[in-house]
Amino acid sequence: MPVLAAIETYRIAVPLKKPFKTALRTVEAAEAIIVHVTTQDGRSGFGEAPPTHVITGDTLDGIERAVHLIGARLIGMDVRRSEQLFEKLHKTLVGNTSAKAAVDMALYDLISQHAGMPLTQFLGGYRESIETDYTVSVNAPEEMAQDAADYEQQGFTVLKVKVGIDQAANDFKRIQAIRKRVGDKVILRLDANQGWDPKSAVRIINQMEDAGFNIELIEQPVPAHDIEGLKYVTDHTLTPIMADESVFSPVDAKRVLELRAADLINIKLMKAGGIHRALKINALAESFGVACMTGSMIETKLGLSAAAHFAASQPNVTRFDFDAPLMLKEDLLPGGIQYSGKAIRFSDKPGLGIDRERFLETLRERRG
Ligand code: MG
Repeated sequence: MPVLAAIETYRIAVPLKKPFKTALRTVEAAEAIIVHVTTQDGRSGFGEAPPTHVITGDTLDGIERAVHLIGARLIGMDVRRSEQLFEKLHKTLVGNTSAKAAVDMALYDLISQHAGMPLTQFLGGYRESIETDYTVSVNAPEEMAQDAADYEQQGFTVLKVKVGIDQAANDFKRIQAIRKRVGDKVILRLDANQGWDPKSAVRIINQMEDAGFNIELIEQPVPAHDIEGLKYVTDHTLTPIMADESVFSPVDAKRVLELRAADLINIKLMKAGGIHRALKINALAESFGVACMTGSMIETKLGLSAAAHFAASQPNVTRFDFDAPLMLKEDLLPGGIQYSGKAIRFSDKPGLGIDRERFLETLRERRG
């Protein structure tokens, strides 16, 4: 019977090749709780949640506790009644979107295995493959220009540049240095991670427009709670503005969409609480004619596999920020999505396509 029998958790930490620096934090290792859900008929589903205190408020200990709290409520339920599973998942506790996302991923892995399809096909199968951008951490202008040139050399054609850490005027110099180094062919998208106030944002964005920097979009220029400020920026600039930290839930998305406070929305499973809610946010956005990007936190290839399966399945998800696994010193996950440079492909195996035995062996070894 495809009935949930057990949920267990593992902790992992994988060092980054280079510290990841944004306006909110510096990260040197990808830490995560890995969730493993098994059914009575012997199937396994996997999920992952990193602690992103400064964005979701979730910590490793908190995620682990929440996963077990949710797990205890789900045991004995049937994966063929998935709406019942997701109802219980979201009603068991408020907040804790990262823990919910990890369990949601594991459930989708199981449900699509039961259906006998790769998850992306189960969800709609819109795209066969997708391409990721690559993130330039915020540093001094020359270092960022060098990083951008390195990533372009490696074949990345879309760079996501982190800004917003100090005075907005310094960000002008950063983008100027990068444009000078990489030329006009590379697509640049910026992410201020809430680092500007509305008026400084309008000033700096207008300056970049006047200078011809040709910025594709700007993510979360102002603090997450300041929806009016976000709208002010959207209304006073020509560059498309994307809401990221301002939109966790479908209710958040509805507010931003109704106010026309942003031109685009960044959906992340860790904010939405998993694929089930991400689909709802995307459907809402689509009905307003607003396209979405899907991104991730600093996660391993497991979390990214779930995010990529979701993103590729939906026509309204048009941009992909899936570089996190490429920043890590090692890949712990046998199976899942396959990277070749910026291209991401999916295996034909049902679910997330994870080699369960080998992955469990790795997780157990790491537990010691
Ligand atoms: Mg962002």
